[in-house]
Amino acid sequence: MGMKVVWHRYDLRLRDNKALSEAGKQAVPVYIFDPKWLEHDLVSDSRIEFVLECLIDINRQYRSKGSRISLFYGNPIQILGNLKYEGYEIYFNKDANHFRREMEEKARKKFKGFSGDGVVRNKEGTRRKWKSSAEKYINSKPPELPDSFEDNTLDSRIKLDEIRERHDLKPEKKKFGEGGSREAGKRLQKFLDNIEKYPSSISSPLKAEKNTSHLSPYIRYGCISRRQAYRHAKWRARNSNQAEKLKMFTDRLLWHLNFSQKVEDNPELHKQSVNPVFRDLNKENIDRKKIEAWKKGKTGYPMVDASMRALVQTGWINFRMRAMCATFFSYILEQWWKEGADFFYKHLIDADVSINYYQWQMHSGTVGVHKHRIYNPVKQIRDNDPEGKFIKKYLPELRALSAKQIVKPWEMTEEEQKRTGVEIGKNYPAPVVNHKNKAKKARKFFKAKKAEAYAAFRDDEVWRKASLSPRHDREKILEKASNQKSLNDY
Ligand SMILES: Cc1cc2nc3c(=O)[nH]c(=O)nc-3n(C[C@H](O)[C@H](O)[C@H](O)COP(=O)(O)OP(=O)(O)OC[C@H]3O[C@@H](n4cnc5c(N)ncnc54)[C@H](O)[C@@H]3O)c2cc1C
Repeated sequence: MGMKVVWHRYDLRLRDNKALSEAGKQAVPVYIFDPKWLEHDLVSDSRIEFVLECLIDINRQYRSKGSRISLFYGNPIQILGNLKYEGYEIYFNKDANHFRREMEEKARKKFKGFSGDGVVRNKEGTRRKWKSSAEKYINSKPPELPDSFEDNTLDSRIKLDEIRERHDLKPEKKKFGEGGSREAGKRLQKFLDNIEKYPSSISSPLKAEKNTSHLSPYIRYGCISRRQAYRHAKWRARNSNQAEKLKMFTDRLLWHLNFSQKVEDNPELHKQSVNPVFRDLNKENIDRKKIEAWKKGKTGYPMVDASMRALVQTGWINFRMRAMCATFFSYILEQWWKEGADFFYKHLIDADVSINYYQWQMHSGTVGVHKHRIYNPVKQIRDNDPEGKFIKKYLPELRALSAKQIVKPWEMTEEEQKRTGVEIGKNYPAPVVNHKNKAKKARKFFKAKKAEAYAAFRDDEVWRKASLSPRHDREKILEKASNQKSLNDY
């Protein structure tokens, strides 16, 4: 039997790996550093470093089973083509959750791709019965893994240190953890041991730093599969009085699967808005000053600023802060959603094309079917950081402020400003826009566009690419389009 190259990409693990299990003992594990990825504007050095850590870990796993991973450098399709020519079969797990759809299609044509991740890949009607098939997948047993592998005789063509040197890597983020399956497993255990704190920690940025799982980068690079995490949490829930809390976690793993389906169905997800009605919304309305203020955490709204600085410094923020910063960028600063989404994608260690770009569209109103939630950064302090601890962690210039002052620093009297040393407009900015007015304007705009936005789903192509989860009924959306016609005159 011939040797089978297993091309690892976003599946940097041995267990629950369909391509690897199919290859069996003859598996020859390979990872290819694609210079186009290493040099991509939206890939941070810290994210690359995370992947290098994952590779050290997967190599350790292979060594314990008599093999190792071979590292290559160059165009993956060409390198794999050459290996095929030399007589290797090429196995890989299909995954369209990246910017290189063309490469994915080529790989699917030329090599042997497997679907072992719960995503449906038949062209027609992928969303019909999707929920039951996703649930069936995530509850099912992962494939068997051989006890050992045959020796890998393919020499590595590059070392990790050469990657660091050649690409002048300077990872600057204070990441929440090292890459790799071992660390993912530890995190999962620690998180599940602590599950009682999860529900009350999800929305608070500081509590979330401690008490959510932080599995997202590990899931992104496949150090652990969603199914592994899901099944383990379900197993724990069987004899636990924390079943409801564990369900909040397993539900989220299923949501993640829903997003992966979207990018499979819509290769343009990261490029253009799902709904054509909003395709060019704010695209030309570029205000560099506002954009820079947002990116640098200098908008004058402490919760937005602390979150943006946390994102840049650590490569992670919790869901609520991601949502708040996105709505602030799109609805309040009235900037094009994609510029904000790209900035997130660059800085997140867990940067996931499907979730990031779709969540951005949802939180910018450009899908046209989701509720408009415009998070108020003042309310978010009151609800989720009442003592200003998170803010003070990332905005040292506001450390002298009291819990009351930090909510609206711009309302401090001159005397308060002198006493605290926080002078608005000098060492901390005045609000870059008036949140209340802008939120009102955005609500009015989207209300007026509602009927048009719903009606866009008459187009089969728009409907298919939206890849909405089964709870969205097309007939009902179109019915709403007709009922709301008068709103167009609003
Ligand atoms: C604008 C925006 C951009 C986002 N971009 C990304 C991204 O690029 N990558 C990413 O993994 N998540 C993204 N999310 C979703 C969510 O914020 C993160 O998954 C979560 O904060 C990761 O932290 P955790 O692993 O501790 O989450 P936990 O609360 O411990 O959740 C466990 C896992 O469930 C999944 N999950 C949790 N929340 C969601 C969600 N809302 N949608 C889909 N899956 C979810 C993730 O895999 C996560 O690791 C984004 C959310 C928003 C609003």
